Amino acid sequence: MADQFKNFIGGEWVAPSTGNYFENRNPAKQSDLIGLFPRSGREDVDRAVAAAKKGFAEWRLTPAPARGDVLRKVGDLLTARKDEIAKAATREMGKTLQETRGDLQEGIDTAYYAGVEGRRLFGKTVPSELRNKWAMSVRRPIGVTGLITPFNFPLAIPTWKMFPALVCGNSVIIKPAEDTPHTVALLVEILEEAGIPAGVVNLVHGLGEEVGAAIVEHPEIPVISFTGSTETGSHIGQVCGRMHKRLSLEMGGKNAQIVMPDADLDLAIDGVLWGAFGTTGQRCTATSRLLLHTDIHDEFVERLIERAKKLKLGYGLEKDVDVGPLIHEASRTKVEEYFEIGKQEATLVLGGERATGEGLDDGFFVQPTIFVDVKPGSRLATEEIFGPVLSVIRFNDLDEAIRINNEVKYGLSSSVYTRDAVASFRAFQDLDNGITYVNAPTIGAEAHLPFGGVKQTGNGHREGGWEVYEFYSETKVCYLDY
Ligand code: NAD
Repeated sequence: MADQFKNFIGGEWVAPSTGNYFENRNPAKQSDLIGLFPRSGREDVDRAVAAAKKGFAEWRLTPAPARGDVLRKVGDLLTARKDEIAKAATREMGKTLQETRGDLQEGIDTAYYAGVEGRRLFGKTVPSELRNKWAMSVRRPIGVTGLITPFNFPLAIPTWKMFPALVCGNSVIIKPAEDTPHTVALLVEILEEAGIPAGVVNLVHGLGEEVGAAIVEHPEIPVISFTGSTETGSHIGQVCGRMHKRLSLEMGGKNAQIVMPDADLDLAIDGVLWGAFGTTGQRCTATSRLLLHTDIHDEFVERLIERAKKLKLGYGLEKDVDVGPLIHEASRTKVEEYFEIGKQEATLVLGGERATGEGLDDGFFVQPTIFVDVKPGSRLATEEIFGPVLSVIRFNDLDEAIRINNEVKYGLSSSVYTRDAVASFRAFQDLDNGITYVNAPTIGAEAHLPFGGVKQTGNGHREGGWEVYEFYSETKVCYLDY
């Protein structure tokens, strides 16, 4: 009999009002049933909102340093259970244990950073224009926050949202992706163990179009933070716009790695291998375009194919596995459609098929795939695939590479491999992305720096770093005459 999981509302683990559950299975081994998770409904969201309002009433008055102390304890508990939680994440998400450990480390760093931020939620004291008057600003919590997260970083992304929201004094209702509910349930268990008061953190499992929509549309949730696809985010944006909600959107990407002729090619090959095929290409920052200077194009492609051929596919908890499965059947179908589009639009030089064989037939595996002769502007070059598919584009000079990089609708990350300082600074200045790396792949983030993208990747907010505390608090200006 499969384990049956619960929602966490008002400090208690409770069954969904609907009585319905959905199955959560291992994407590398479909026969491995992880558990049954609540398929909650609007009534569960209403209950969570009532609990979160009560929780907020007390939590907002808890001194910010004390709120931070709870989060620092969360950091300690996550560190103590790192291996166990990372293994649970690999089992339900599919990426390798090394990657889920990194995902959790980001959460641990965020816990300590947000914890300390409880002592630094500064306002300002400003000289007044008038005599005998004080003028200052303070930061106030907002209320109940609704947090909706994707499957691909089941540890880091929920913590990027929950911990800053909490240290600022808000209460939280989180709805994790239906593909990775177990990992977020473990996070919430740890928040409970760390002593978060009842109602301050609430977890409601369920489907996006049911529970996610109910959270977005709820009139008593003034703040929504969403990470996921641009399609879902755009819809959420319309609802929140109509309801005048504060909204943070972090959405899709089509990230490019640019390799200049003076680059360290070994380093650049390592970068693109990890950037394109790590997490099976399912990172918002995944390298899905490789822009190669014409002078090194042919040699680079040849050497890259040799390395990519050696990547070992399999279940991420098994030894020496480099690349796991895709998250679900629909995702594999989508990636296979792009294999066909690519075969029409460009030249296939590696992969392009479903991956089969020992240990692969029970999961959603596809071969790491490389297309060359990809035309800028083609579907392969501009659409987010979210799988291990790399499109190689040739260029003649940095101006052309910058133009190609910038001609997609997304703007999350980019990277340039070069030894030239001038080219590096041109890249920082002219690439239209929220993050640019020089001599490193398009992936990776540090908890104490802002993370996010421009254009249709986001709506101007950032996660992580110092900026996120602005999103989760209101500035209030106070004047005192004496
Ligand atoms: P998704 O949009 O399918 O789902 C994300 C979340 O939204 C899930 O919890 C889902 O249940 C919920 N949802 C779905 N429909 C909803 C609705 N109508 N109302 C409210 N909630 C709804 O995305 P996904 O497949 O889980 O994640 C992959 C996408 O996320 C990719 O496009 C990727 O680029 C993006 N992503 C972006 C970032 C970033 O920081 N920019 C980070 C990670 C992932």
